[in-house]
Amino acid sequence: MKTESADLVVFNAEINTMNENGDVAQAMAIRDGKVIEFGPDRQILNKYSYSNSIDARGKQIYPGFIDAHGHMISYAALLLGVDLVGSTSEIEMLERVSSYKKEQNKAVIIGMGWDQSLWKDDAFPDNGKLNEMFPKTPVCLYRIDGHSALVNNSFIGLLGDFEVPNGGAVLQDEFGNYTGLFVDAALQLFEGVLPKYTNDEMKPKLLEIQEELLAHGVTGVHEAGVDADELSLLDEMVSSNALKLNIYAMLAPSEENKNFVRKNGVYRNKSLLVRSFKAYVDGALGSSGALLKEPYHDHPNYNGLSLSSVSELNRLRDFCLSNGYQLNCHGIGDAAVSQILEMCKKAYDKNPDHRFRLEHAQVVDSKDLKLFNTYAVFPSVQPTHATTDQRWAASKLGAERMKGAYAYKSLLNQFGMIALGTDFPIEYTNPYYTIHSAVHRKNAKGFPEKGFLAEESLSIKETLKGMTIWGAFASFQEKELGSLEQGKHATFFILDRPLNKSSTFSPNYSWKTFVQGEIVHSLD
Ligand SMILES: [Zn+2]
Repeated sequence: MKTESADLVVFNAEINTMNENGDVAQAMAIRDGKVIEFGPDRQILNKYSYSNSIDARGKQIYPGFIDAHGHMISYAALLLGVDLVGSTSEIEMLERVSSYKKEQNKAVIIGMGWDQSLWKDDAFPDNGKLNEMFPKTPVCLYRIDGHSALVNNSFIGLLGDFEVPNGGAVLQDEFGNYTGLFVDAALQLFEGVLPKYTNDEMKPKLLEIQEELLAHGVTGVHEAGVDADELSLLDEMVSSNALKLNIYAMLAPSEENKNFVRKNGVYRNKSLLVRSFKAYVDGALGSSGALLKEPYHDHPNYNGLSLSSVSELNRLRDFCLSNGYQLNCHGIGDAAVSQILEMCKKAYDKNPDHRFRLEHAQVVDSKDLKLFNTYAVFPSVQPTHATTDQRWAASKLGAERMKGAYAYKSLLNQFGMIALGTDFPIEYTNPYYTIHSAVHRKNAKGFPEKGFLAEESLSIKETLKGMTIWGAFASFQEKELGSLEQGKHATFFILDRPLNKSSTFSPNYSWKTFVQGEIVHSLD
């Protein structure tokens, strides 16, 4: 006798609930987008009448993965411009620009994704060849980290007379000519010059990205910095049910966004939640923009770039505190990390559960490490950055500073939680790379053989928590997301193959992905 009704019953599964006890269940019943009961197959199948059922064929189920730091908007822009990711030489990069120019009729060419550390002599490029090949068409090519760009003289011509903003660098050769390389705050000079893609161009690309994420079992993204138009595009796509992903959007600290907060406070529209700001305190290590306490190992007398003064950052903190918002600061160099931690003292004094986040936390002075605990600062890191940067990090930091670099286990030990992400499109969206990097400290090709700073590896359990429940905590959504529990969202995926725990990488996918009980991806 079936006494209860459900919309969906999933059975014959290994349901890894990721709840406090780490319970594993065989079947679950789902109604109105929420999990209502777990139990053995027989019990659930006997008790519930249901309109739909899935035989999971013994496969593993996890709560949908949360990418705690990604950039859907930049990824969409990358897909619309010249994709330079993985170019193995400057020539290859230029050839990609050339074929794009032939296919697309654009007044200004924008590309993204070059990384000189993949090229033979690993030196930063200048625009000599770019000027020869594109004398008349303005070209702007962002580095993979988005923190520097190589532009040609035709593009520089569009900028008119300019002054380099604080926190920026525009490189010159020994004769005082621009080399074409603009770093960090200098990229602000491009505003108003770089054409923006229209919403009609962006939408299909955002949907493609959503597909890619859902196909891997990623159901949530913390979008790390949006301006007002980008937020309204996301909002519109959520309203029309085009976007199914749970999106936790962090606002860029513009006046327009602050007005949005004054008007709306904490904003929720279906699967979109807005209650945080994202601020940049320094640049990126790969572009030598990370702010270090002592000079760069390969650059004496140079400490990197500061993108927010102490008073600016404090003002933003106070704005966040008075509006019930979280502040998530990009901090890569140890000096930036220090500044952010000190800023969090007042947040802690006001509310110990403030959950202000330190994004990246790539280089931490060992003296500062305990402040993550003292001021309850939430570390948010990207394990694939460690295994990508391992090729060159020591050359910029020197051996001594490597002790506090990419120190995920030490950070976890301080705060008790760590949120994991990819920072896509800087890295791939693929969460199985994140797992592999976090646990084995190796990239997908198995390098370095013994693991990079292997003592900082996370256990598989910690890693999975960092991609589920701790990601939910980092966005104040632990009551709805991050684990499969009675009353929480039925947002989960069924893995195609068992989760790989061995130290050799093997690809994996989601067999079926569900968001609030609705199927949003299926391999068959
Ligand atoms: Zn980022």
